[in-house]
This record gives sequence, structure tokens and C-alpha cells, in this order.
Amino acid sequence: MLTSNPEDSFFAGRMSRFAPSATTGMSHRAREMRQAGIDVIGLSSGEPDFETPAHIREAAKVAIDAGYTKNTNIDGMPELKEAVVRKFQRENGITYDPSQISVGTGAKQVIFNALLVTVDEGDEVIIPAPYWVSYPDMVNLAGGTPVVVPTRPDRGFVLDPEELERAITLRTKWLIINNPGNPSGAVWDSQSLRQIADVLLRHPHVWVLTDDIYEHLVYDNAVVTAFAAIAPELMDRVLTVNGLSKGYCMTGWRIGFAGGPKRLIDGMRKLQSQSTSNPNTVAQHAALAALDGPKDFMAPNRARFKARRDSVVERINAMPRLACRTPRGAFYAFADCSGAVGSKTTSGQRITTDMELCEYILNEHHVAMVPGSAFGTPDHFRLSYATSEDVLEKACDRIDAAMRALS
Ligand code: PLP
Repeated sequence: MLTSNPEDSFFAGRMSRFAPSATTGMSHRAREMRQAGIDVIGLSSGEPDFETPAHIREAAKVAIDAGYTKNTNIDGMPELKEAVVRKFQRENGITYDPSQISVGTGAKQVIFNALLVTVDEGDEVIIPAPYWVSYPDMVNLAGGTPVVVPTRPDRGFVLDPEELERAITLRTKWLIINNPGNPSGAVWDSQSLRQIADVLLRHPHVWVLTDDIYEHLVYDNAVVTAFAAIAPELMDRVLTVNGLSKGYCMTGWRIGFAGGPKRLIDGMRKLQSQSTSNPNTVAQHAALAALDGPKDFMAPNRARFKARRDSVVERINAMPRLACRTPRGAFYAFADCSGAVGSKTTSGQRITTDMELCEYILNEHHVAMVPGSAFGTPDHFRLSYATSEDVLEKACDRIDAAMRALS
């Protein structure tokens, strides 16, 4: 169809169904300001600042020199699938066959594949909020409808089974569980997961996608239990997603994986065969070393994250107009900033939303964070503490100054 503005018809209709990722958007703004010579502290992205452990980097170098530079099977080389099977058995108590494993270019691609091959126009996907920014947009892109169910801070941001039951319709295809949660840091205990499973037993058409990518980053003796281990009777409709980006400090290597019913895994492979093909071969060798290798680097990393969490949460709670619960997992503080809404900056601007607060803090005090609205939970902001102690201290000083300047 011709329109008066030729640009209107340039992009496909699906381009208007989703927004660019808010977290990458904030990081991009911070980078632009830095390029313009402004000293901006970026606390918006979700990457551990720690280096990938040496034995994993070494395995990649060995793989290159051994000539592992060709393509592999579309959804992962057999040795890596075997290692993923061992990981699920050893760490989660779930038994999968290698034919039930999919390896992709990050957990992001694995989730994208699963949604794109199963969600049709009009299908609904239940997403508890606050949610990882990409879930709703992936559902939108697939033509489905995200059904956002808010969770409450007083329930530790864990989904209420009664609210789940109310949200389920005949069109519900998936429930997405993110445990530990980004941005809330919520860790779902096994009793809460069991209550969710009991609801789903009554609705056999609803599948569960559980994204456990932060499973190794939990504090205060919190334990992550995989949904499929809690509810083995639902195994034939659960996709267990995980990856190496967070716990293994391997964001840029781009390896994620999932275990699930074979017919779903087959469908995901079919889609991947027409998009990216196999994930990077050298990175797959590094992933193999990561999954089968020593894990002694994890405890010190966790201890440093915990110390940062404690000091950041304490600092935020000492600032006017802010309140922050102590998250038990991941590496984010999710602060309630409702007390700042309605306040005024020194230049006379009234702050009416969490987005305006984050913009004010970025523009005038040079700290980049992500507004809670991007995660479906307004009146909050997310700050990543996956950055050095010095930088965090300086960032907290700036946020403190920003909050104290409001009247
Ligand atoms: N799931 C959640 C909850 C995340 O926070 C992220 C990254 O930020 C991902 C998945 C994507 O991870 P990957 O780097 O493996 O694509």
C-alpha cells in the first residue's frame, strides 16, 4: 500500500509490535554521553564485571589451535549436549536425554526460539511483573499477547498462585518463571513453585518456560530449585532455560541452553537452522570446559556480589524518598522510588514518573539506571551492582546528591 511518507511502508508491520530493549537503550545513552566527554557511570547493564575464569578462556584457545573452526550440529555439538545433560542431573536433579537439549547463541536466542515456534496470533503468555524486559516484546514479535500479572513486594515479588489461576484462559500457552528474578532478585522457594505446579495441573494446555540463568548467584543460603524437579509430572510441558552468561561471567561468549520435550526442541532446531545455525564453535568448547570444569571461582564471586549488594542496599535506604528490599539473588537492586514522584528538581522540573527520575539522575547527576516501567513495575528503578566497589560507591554518592537535591 502506498502512503504519503514512503518511510512508513519501508518496515514490516511486525516492527511496530515491539520496542528496542530498554536496558540496552540506557547503556547506549550512557555510552553516547561518555563519547561526548561526560563522566557517566553506567549501572544499567546486566554483565558481571569479573573476567571469564582462566581455564575456560584456555579451553577456547586450545579449541582454536586444534582447528575447531567449522560448523557443528545446529543446536549444539553432541559433547556439549552431554555436558548439559550432566549439569541438569548434577545441579538440578532433572534427567534429560541429549535429544531433549538445545544450545543457542545465549539464553536469549533459546527463549526467542521457544516462543516463536509455539506462539500464534492471539495466544497468551503469562508474565509475572517485574519481568526481564525481553519477554513481552518477544511474545509481541511472535504475534501473541503478553498477559502481565503483577507480583507484590510483600510476597517477595513471587507470583501468587490465585492470581495465576485468574489469569489463565483457554488461549494461555505459556507461563514464564524467572528464578532468581531480574530485576527483583526474587528467589522462588520450593513451596511457591509447588503451588504454581498445583494450579497448572488443573490446566493441561499451559506450558512453563522457566529461566534460571541467575541460579548460581544467590545469597543468604537461598536455594534455587528447578521447576521440573519440583513438578516431574509436568516434565512434558516444561522448558528449563539456563546459560553461562551470568554465573560463569561469559556474557560475550553467547552460549545458552535448554532442556525440554523433544518435539519442542526439534521445532527450535528447525527455526535455528534458518536463522543463526549453530552457536559459535569456539564458544561451545569454552562452554564445555565451563560446565564440566572446576566451580571454585563461584564462591568468591558470590561473596563479592553479596558484599556489594549489602552496601548498595544500605546506601539506598539511607537516601531520602527511596526504599529498597534486600534481594536474595541476581545482581540488581530494585528500589522503590514512589516517594520521589511529585518532587521538584533544583531547576524547577516536576518528576512525575520513574522514567523522569532516571532521566534526571542521568542528565544532571550522570548515573545510568533503568526505570521500573521497563520491567512492568513503575515507581521503581533497577541498578546493577555488577561493577567495581569504587564505582558503586561513587555512583551511590551521586544518586544520594540527586535525591537530596529534590524538594
Ligand atoms: N534471561 C534473563 C532473566 C536475563 O537477565 C538475561 C540477560 O540479561 C538473559 C536471559 C539473556 O542471557 P544470555 O546472555 O544468555 O542471552
